[in-house]
Amino acid sequence: MEWTAQVIVVGAGPAGSAAAASLSAQGVDTLLLDRAAFPREKTCGDGLTPPSVAVLQELGLLPKLEAAGALRTTGVRIFAPGGRSIEIGFDELAGELPAFGLTIPRRILDALLLEHAQQAGARFVSRFHVDGLLRDQGAVVGVKGKCNGQRAVARAPLTCLATGAGMPLVLKAGLLPAVPPVSHGARAYYDLPALDPVLQLHFDRSLLPGYGWIFPLSGGRANVGVGSLAGGSPRRRAAPTRQLFERFVSHNAHVQGQLAGARRIGPVRSYPLRTDLAARTQTNGLLLVGEAAGLANPVSGEGVHYALESGLMAAQVAAEALLEGDLTSSRLAVYGRRLHERYASGFRCLGRVRRWYLRERVLDLIVQKAQRRPRLKYLLANAVLGLTDPGEATSLATLAKILF
Ligand SMILES: Cc1cc2nc3c(=O)[nH]c(=O)nc-3n(C[C@H](O)[C@H](O)[C@H](O)COP(=O)(O)OP(=O)(O)OC[C@H]3O[C@@H](n4cnc5c(N)ncnc54)[C@H](O)[C@@H]3O)c2cc1C
Repeated sequence: MEWTAQVIVVGAGPAGSAAAASLSAQGVDTLLLDRAAFPREKTCGDGLTPPSVAVLQELGLLPKLEAAGALRTTGVRIFAPGGRSIEIGFDELAGELPAFGLTIPRRILDALLLEHAQQAGARFVSRFHVDGLLRDQGAVVGVKGKCNGQRAVARAPLTCLATGAGMPLVLKAGLLPAVPPVSHGARAYYDLPALDPVLQLHFDRSLLPGYGWIFPLSGGRANVGVGSLAGGSPRRRAAPTRQLFERFVSHNAHVQGQLAGARRIGPVRSYPLRTDLAARTQTNGLLLVGEAAGLANPVSGEGVHYALESGLMAAQVAAEALLEGDLTSSRLAVYGRRLHERYASGFRCLGRVRRWYLRERVLDLIVQKAQRRPRLKYLLANAVLGLTDPGEATSLATLAKILF
């Protein structure tokens, strides 16, 4: 089996579908491959904060998402380890953002994003498991693997890897000097009617520096999960993360109370998360987008927003480079520079937020003070969601506000 295109995008998650849609809209012949058949499950909290909503709105997808059952959320409620909580409305957050978030199962969101890419002209091949890269004189010129069990190849002068947290292809591309530490998350669905339309974040002491969540979904359901941000190898942490999940739903008083009598639907699923923002995101004939570039928020674990944005940024650079007929690493490096200009200082700041603030006593103190001080509450919510101006959350002035 053999295909050719101008660009191959491997992975039809939010990053791959956004890239493929934008490339196709710019007239580039784009082939989108995924090992799965859609709609497919993706282990996720299904929560979209205002920055993700802003990109989806720009793509013109909001009406379709709402028609498909997306639920509008009004804000975030943060529970400190000691049990105190604060709530902040999305209308109070930084920047020119929509005043609401959304929740929608990834099974639905990703299928709609894929449909959007196909409507823009992208050709989609499902059940194509890519296991290697084709090279010619040091440049990547396509991919190989198995499609529906048969050997298959796809050739193109440019490949975008949008394969999420799994690293085999990124390692084969030579873009990771070593396997970075990964975080882990686990989630399950529950029948849980009558929840407020807010995202609940529970900084349970057994999960720090991670947290647990209850996110309401439409139809009286909820996505309940835990994120263990401590890092570790992908295999080693999968089982413990599911154990952390069971502990969270059975021991956390706020959560136990809400889940009493609720029915769990389906299994608890866990999956790794990469939050390392790769130093290099291109080589000759290849770009990394979304979580394949280590783009998930190191504090909240949110990744859909970065996946969509980086997919669009990569598509712009790729289309320009194709026009110029220059797909060398040095031409494509402009994408990496834009990515780092946009996210690097924010990710460094979030790393500090995680190290300094995601501790039991500190969080208890911040939430206690934030209950009385709106400015601190605003800062905490923005820091957790990665919206704070880099540096502000960890400035001396902020530290002073927390301590005194
Ligand atoms: C438990 C958990 C909870 C999360 N909660 C949230 C949340 O509430 N909100 C949020 O914004 N983010 C959340 N995230 C992060 C978010 O899920 C990811 O950051 C996001 O999905 C990344 O998008 P992507 O397109 O880069 O990759 P993915 O969505 O992972 O898509 C990658 C695609 O590539 C395909 N693929 C992989 N390898 C191959 C291959 N070799 N050949 C062919 N196809 C391949 C896969 O089938 C998949 O369809 C969570 C993550 C976890 C683990």
